[in-house]
Amino acid sequence: ARAQIGVTGLAVMGRNLARNFARHGYTVAVHNRSYAKTESLIADHGTDGDFVPSESTADFVASIERPRKIVIMVKAGAATDAVIDELIPHLEEGDVVIDGGNAHFPDTIRREHKLSELGLHFVGMGVSGGEEGALNGPSIMPGGPKESYTTLGPILEDISAKVDGTPCCTWVGPDGAGHFVKMVHNGIEYADMQLIAEAYDLLKHGLGESAAGIGKIFEQWNKGDLESFLIEITADVLQHVDAETGKAFVDVVLDQAEQKGTGRWTVQNALDLGVPITGIAEATFARALSGSVPQREAARAALPGDAGTWQIEDRDAFVEDVRLALYASKLVAYSQGFDQIAAASAEYGWGIDRGAMARIWRGGCIIRAKFLNRITEAYERDENLPLLIADPYFADVVGKGLAAWRRIVAQAALNGVPTPAFASSLSYYDGVRAERLPAALIQAQRDFFGAHTYRRVDREGTFHTEWSGDRSETTA
Ligand code: NDP
Repeated sequence: ARAQIGVTGLAVMGRNLARNFARHGYTVAVHNRSYAKTESLIADHGTDGDFVPSESTADFVASIERPRKIVIMVKAGAATDAVIDELIPHLEEGDVVIDGGNAHFPDTIRREHKLSELGLHFVGMGVSGGEEGALNGPSIMPGGPKESYTTLGPILEDISAKVDGTPCCTWVGPDGAGHFVKMVHNGIEYADMQLIAEAYDLLKHGLGESAAGIGKIFEQWNKGDLESFLIEITADVLQHVDAETGKAFVDVVLDQAEQKGTGRWTVQNALDLGVPITGIAEATFARALSGSVPQREAARAALPGDAGTWQIEDRDAFVEDVRLALYASKLVAYSQGFDQIAAASAEYGWGIDRGAMARIWRGGCIIRAKFLNRITEAYERDENLPLLIADPYFADVVGKGLAAWRRIVAQAALNGVPTPAFASSLSYYDGVRAERLPAALIQAQRDFFGAHTYRRVDREGTFHTEWSGDRSETTA
């Protein structure tokens, strides 16, 4: 046994992660269900470092130093269970099994419990950054038993992305915490992408600007507060020309967005926890709407628009309004995502440090961005901060952009451009800061038809009104 770490599952992600370990000087045991992928890794990239290929699971496990560290990088779901079951008979007490796939966190909790009963450690590890990140430094979100992080952590931190010399990897929390945080990361990614897409659509309709022209605007934005990977690639994509037609690439792509499911999981979990993540939810539904082809056809044929036509006098002012509205909406989406992390952390007893999560998302992952520093600072100022946008820095930023945000959402509505994420984020902002909400009426309605009771503003207790009787009030 001479490998310090093993990787099983050598499709794009596993192969690149194995190469990343090898390039950092680790001897890496490599294995894949079908041996061809293992052979091609050695043939194509054997010179990256020291690999120990095995065809059988038994040889693979035997080639790794104890306590073993084995990263599973296979298709999430049943395949992960199959690989775990295949490994178990060959493992010994104290060995660490690490699932780097996009597992759903309840599966990770289940697997962690099962393996801990066998005396094995199970680490559910979120990995973000795609194949490029896996090779050159991803953001890594490992959960599981904290003691396994003492030996595993330094290796993961070594191969992770670095920002200002700080690794984009830290222990997240017990059992499913790592995969949970990865899931919310993806949910935020959905919101971020949708907001950028809405900003593009507003600039397109408002200014009648070409894709390339809008790409230039995004390029400018990437020099300021919005500086991030997603803004950067948006600028690039918008300026890309389709080789076949000579048209802007974005104009030849079918407008039906797909998803693999992490956004949906995020929204489902938020519903379970009762956390309003409206930005992420609208982004997920916007993808669903785009793919609802029969509904879109029926609507186009039957529904009037009655929309105005854009009349923009000051082009630069409009662009700045869209930028401010984008930043404010984005802050709401992140604020909501961090609320969800806080709620889940309390529900599952994970003790997640939200500031640390923002820190490990600064590099390597898809939502990597400069402003994440600000989130870390906000949670450093107050680790129990109840609402991220209420932090003084963010309150100031959002406050300064508020008038622009309202103008943009209003103009979008008047001119018939759908902005579900911009508009719902503004509604959330106004809702969460409202002195008094119409929820009072909802409580009254609930008491009327279902005797669900209500509380009063002027005294303690729970009450019911005899709606169908004499309308007297009783203490429930
Ligand atoms: P895929 O999700 O396409 O999975 C292919 C790999 O899974 C192959 O190695 C395949 O082996 C193996 N596999 C499938 N079924 C089984 C099984 N029943 N038993 C054993 N092995 C099996 O690969 P990716 O590299 O794209 O992703 C790997 C994991 O990383 C996934 O969980 C994914 O969600 C996650 N992930 C992916 C990212 C990405 O950008 N692609 C980003 C972050 C995470 P074989 O070659 O024998 O078919």
